[in-house]
Amino acid sequence: EEVTLEDLQKISTLGCGSSGKVYKVKHVKTGKIYALKIIQEKHELAVRKQIMREMEILRRANSPHIVQCYGIFDRGGEISFVLEYMDGGTLAQVLQAHKKIPEHYLAEVARQVLKGLLYLHQNKIVHRDIKPSNLLINKRREVKIADFGVSTVLAHTLAQCNSFVGTCAYMSPERFDPDGYGGKYDGCSADIWSLGLSLLECALGRFPCLSPGQRPDWPTLMVAICLGDPPSPPPDASPEFQSFIRCCLQKDALLRHTAHGLLLHPFLKKYEQRSCDLSPLLQSLHL
Ligand code: ATP
Ligand code: MG
Repeated sequence: EEVTLEDLQKISTLGCGSSGKVYKVKHVKTGKIYALKIIQEKHELAVRKQIMREMEILRRANSPHIVQCYGIFDRGGEISFVLEYMDGGTLAQVLQAHKKIPEHYLAEVARQVLKGLLYLHQNKIVHRDIKPSNLLINKRREVKIADFGVSTVLAHTLAQCNSFVGTCAYMSPERFDPDGYGGKYDGCSADIWSLGLSLLECALGRFPCLSPGQRPDWPTLMVAICLGDPPSPPPDASPEFQSFIRCCLQKDALLRHTAHGLLLHPFLKKYEQRSCDLSPLLQSLHL
């Protein structure tokens, strides 16, 4: 289904990111609800073209674990996307509301995100911006990956801005080294690092790579991620979760497990029987 901008009516603001604003909108003719993401700044043509190109890939992506894109528009330099509306918010919002997320929920989140990553990686697509604010949840208990590509395109053009730090906090060690990156690795393993770090953040209730007082700027992050030991899981976590996190957070990209391998990990097996209902997580959120 193709949706045009003229048919959309703004209902409310869902949130602001470094690149733009996201609105809850209604398709007047059908009454369907969507999320409309508008890239605020008017970027030069080359950047816009690259964003459009990357989003076109997303639009063709067809997986229950990837947020659907129903239209991409460039109106006088202002780019916008019509996206599937996710009524449960982001994993970042859930984490903020609960402070920490119990393991059995994280197993369910991991399973669904890994299915999305498996789909992307099998199609030779690397996401490059997996982090809690780009993992969306809905009341049908689905977890989906959003925001494919755009932030990375913009990050390269805005490398000196604060927004870049937000994106690089979840970057794997090899991505900090521009020469090593791209040549030796296919990049898929970088998404696995970012997923591991996001899940660990949910378990710890704080960003894992820095100690509480440390400023999250580029040099501090680079030193912590590239020179430090990989962050470790909380000691009270189950051995299965500890092992899962270690499989994701291998500093050597070649030792990191793949989406396919991780879907078979005992951590996911452990909670398979348990009710995977994510709705208790969403209840305290007023969305
Ligand atoms: P950053 O710009 O640093 O990547 P971000 O991912 O939070 O941060 P956006 O992608 O612009 O920035 O999203 C802003 C907010 O809009 C999100 O945090 C989320 O709350 C909301 N949002 C984004 N996409 C959707 C969607 N498809 N459905 C519902 N809410 C959404
Ligand atoms: Mg986002």
